[in-house]
Amino acid sequence: MLVSSDNQLPLPFMIYLDTAASYPVLPEVQQALFDAFKFSFANSASSHKLGVEVSDEIQRVRELIADEIGAYPSEIVFTSGATESNNIAFKSLLFGGSVPSNKKHIVTSQIEHKCIFAICSYLETQGFEITYIKPNENGIITAEAVSESLREDTAIVSIMHANNELGTINPITEIGELCFSKGVLFHSDCAQSFMKEEIDVDDMNIDVLSLSAHKIAGPKGIGAVYIRDLRKKHLQPVIHGAGQEDGLRGGTVAAPLIIGFGKAVELFPRYYSDFKKTEAKDYLINKLDSNDIRFSVNGNSTTLPSCMSLTLHDTNTSLLIRQQDDQFCIAQGSACTSKTIEPSHVLTALGMPREQADKTFRVSFPLDITRDEISTFVEAIKKATI
Ligand SMILES: *Cc1c(COP(=O)(O)O)cnc(C)c1O
Repeated sequence: MLVSSDNQLPLPFMIYLDTAASYPVLPEVQQALFDAFKFSFANSASSHKLGVEVSDEIQRVRELIADEIGAYPSEIVFTSGATESNNIAFKSLLFGGSVPSNKKHIVTSQIEHKCIFAICSYLETQGFEITYIKPNENGIITAEAVSESLREDTAIVSIMHANNELGTINPITEIGELCFSKGVLFHSDCAQSFMKEEIDVDDMNIDVLSLSAHKIAGPKGIGAVYIRDLRKKHLQPVIHGAGQEDGLRGGTVAAPLIIGFGKAVELFPRYYSDFKKTEAKDYLINKLDSNDIRFSVNGNSTTLPSCMSLTLHDTNTSLLIRQQDDQFCIAQGSACTSKTIEPSHVLTALGMPREQADKTFRVSFPLDITRDEISTFVEAIKKATI
């Protein structure tokens, strides 16, 4: 997205290639948010006309999201985002009597979003044992690998649908079938795949699923968790409150954000299918090839069209990063945590050496990327290449 002064970003001519971290909010969503803050301000728990109207709007969005994943509206709980949804998935189910108390084993993977590791580390202090599955060389968690990790006392399996660094897509249907046949709960973090890949909680045997609005050009701070048969489950609340969201999550429901989320759900597919027609990924690969830039793409070939992990073997990373400051927004394979620079856990799980991880970038395209912008990006890579 080449941003001019009348556009959304404060910086002129920034090429934003970091939508896997967060999408720019669609203009229609911005308008819906503005209108909602102005008109839908009443508390959805109030019994007067305005309150009921807001409550109806929330219900409409709940139905919209449920429809998208083949669920019932009563199984959707609004949260602050996928991080919270993932927390609920583990804590509410494991501490809520949904699994027998002697089941203390959790299966997840080495390539999950960081928040899953934080949740699992906490659960270890509560007596749970965790198995972290290593991805295969294509960055995929196979159903066989999950099968080998299952134990008699496995309580829950949690495998993400699309990976946020590689864009790889895990065989969720197979994994779901396996979990179903073994009577193990199956959670999938679908923050990256929602509205981009087909999701059906019944076909995929998913029991719990996490979503986030800002990964589909909606507002930040709102997401949802799907919980199969929620009303029969008597779960432990994550926030004890006044009974909102089936008692699971107290606090006045964030109606304007939910309305913005709904607008994004309605519009994202249309923008995304237009984006797919640009064949941005193929164009970038062809451009790199024709400029004799040595690169490799990490993960297998059937990744999300909007996200790719690129190792630039002969590129001077610091030079490219310096150019990036005023030209590009892009994610590097090493995330800086305070003073130390850590290589990404996903690349490490793939067995990538440190120096190669340093030369790896995640390119994730905005909906309105142009070929000119991709060419500009390749020019910059060329300039930074030895
Ligand atoms: C972005 C992301 C999250 C975190 O979502 P928030 O809504 O920002 O909490 C979790 N998992 C995946 C796969 C993500 O891409």
